[in-house]
Amino acid sequence: MAKRPQPQFPEPHTESFWEGAQQGELRYQRCDACEEIVFYPRQHCPSCGSQNLSWQVSKGEGTVYTFSVVRQNRMPGFIDLGAYSVAYIDLDEGFRMMSSVVGVDDPTKDIAIGQRVRVDFEKQEEGDYPIPVFRPI
Ligand SMILES: [Zn+2]
Repeated sequence: MAKRPQPQFPEPHTESFWEGAQQGELRYQRCDACEEIVFYPRQHCPSCGSQNLSWQVSKGEGTVYTFSVVRQNRMPGFIDLGAYSVAYIDLDEGFRMMSSVVGVDDPTKDIAIGQRVRVDFEKQEEGDYPIPVFRPI
């Protein structure tokens, strides 16, 4: 089981996102005023400045926009991973998030730009918040 760093609360802008992760939901925001899709979670719409943002639940499916492979990371929580991907995922609802594509034999060979992926929530050894990662569909 993984040992990634955990979010620290209180933190009003992202708390709903992490509550969603606990329930297996990938949440994002939509502006009630201009309908802009907003991600990462924020207090204001970056397009029109409105503070009226509503939480939405993504279907959790998207496409790899780009990625890189970290071959070694000596930070606690990552040191046992070996090579792992850091990827930008374009979700079908129209937002992009940084995450990792997991569940492949070799991240240097088995991940591709344009690959279809689906969110999964990786439970952690310590802490209450699973981390959203993506697996090939
Ligand atoms: Zn707006």
